[in-house]
Amino acid sequence: MRPKYKRIILKLSGEALAGEKGFGIDQTTIELIAKQIKEITELGVQVAVVVGGGNFWRGRSSKGMDRTTADYMGMLATVINSLALQDALENINVLTRVQTAIEMRQIAEPYIRRKAIRHLEKGRVVIFAAGTGNPYFSTDTTASLRAAEIEAEVILLAKKVDGVYDSDPMENPNAKKFEKLTYIEVLNRGLKVMDSTATSLCMDNKIPIIVFSLREPENIKKVILGENIGTYVKE
Ligand code: UDP
Repeated sequence: MRPKYKRIILKLSGEALAGEKGFGIDQTTIELIAKQIKEITELGVQVAVVVGGGNFWRGRSSKGMDRTTADYMGMLATVINSLALQDALENINVLTRVQTAIEMRQIAEPYIRRKAIRHLEKGRVVIFAAGTGNPYFSTDTTASLRAAEIEAEVILLAKKVDGVYDSDPMENPNAKKFEKLTYIEVLNRGLKVMDSTATSLCMDNKIPIIVFSLREPENIKKVILGENIGTYVKE
């Protein structure tokens, strides 16, 4: 079994870590995700993970609070998730490093691109925490930015739904799933793959995105081995 990619960014939304609870961290879920990450590293894939924070806090949905403050709270939420993922990975003997975009040296390394690449080359899983370090951005944008910086070949966007649909499949039973899309289609149709900043960054830097569901445990590995699941977004 030969992996299709050498270096990837796996974007996990905060929700993905919450499991059925929808809030906080579900230990069983995070252990399952860690196991899948371990499997792909054992195939020789260099794995960098960007973790969201929506299971605790989202800046844009906080009402009445200063947006910048709310966004910094969101970035801190991603650090909580990153540490939980690091713990789950290290429990199964996967070497990891967390790098934060906002310095907090007692907790993790600061983000240093060259160091991150070095860790990846040594087979360590690098977890990028605290988003881009800037308010008004998202962790999807972080995934696009870091993918460009570390020259990842693809972004694996693990979601609750198994791909991109023309309408919300939870509300419309006739919603149609796309197998392939171009960045410009995503932007023009306003499809909720990533936010537009993140999508544009991928478009400008030609980074393909594969959107798939994490509900089936084997999906990360399937994508890595080149199986056609989910929705493929490229030029
Ligand atoms: N955030 C931010 N700048 C970044 C990344 C994240 O301000 O570069 C904040 C923002 O408030 C966001 C929150 O962190 O709502 C959590 O990230 P996100 O919503 O992307 O998490 P996800 O939806 O993937 O769980």
